[in-house]
Amino acid sequence: MQRMPESPRPILLVDVDGVLALFNLGAEPPAGVWHLIEGFPYYLATETATLLHEAAEHFELVWCTGWEDRANDHLPRLLGVPGPLPVVYFDRNPGRGNAHWKLKAIDAFSAGRPVAWIDDALNDECHRWAAARMAAGVPTLLVETEPHTGFTAAHLVQLIDFAGQATSPA
Ligand SMILES: [Mg+2]
Repeated sequence: MQRMPESPRPILLVDVDGVLALFNLGAEPPAGVWHLIEGFPYYLATETATLLHEAAEHFELVWCTGWEDRANDHLPRLLGVPGPLPVVYFDRNPGRGNAHWKLKAIDAFSAGRPVAWIDDALNDECHRWAAARMAAGVPTLLVETEPHTGFTAAHLVQLIDFAGQATSPA
């Protein structure tokens, strides 16, 4: 099979807050560690590092978060996630609950490649964007997390299944 010069793996866009760094924690949150990062406390879910390493065997991982370069500055060291990773940069900080502000930068970055996107703040605009990509024949998957549980093993199963379909020959 002829290989494209660039990676044949789909992109996995990885948000941080609500995916790796949890909030609105319940009585029994997933295993994690509190860290003070640039003066703010963050609860980093330790299992997400393992999940991201497994995802990296199927995807090109890319930070897609208001943290931008700060994700590479802190998370590989504190959480043990893969890195440094490529970063999607935004014109302005998207802020919690306004994930659609990420779409323009995602389009510019992904340039029509298959994309899975894991985030806790996907809205109708994101779903319309994904549907339009799928209609154009570009494999696209949105995975929405709950901020108090974040990235889970069930999400990884969903992602690996998508990656298998996205990379199989037409
Ligand atoms: Mg988030």
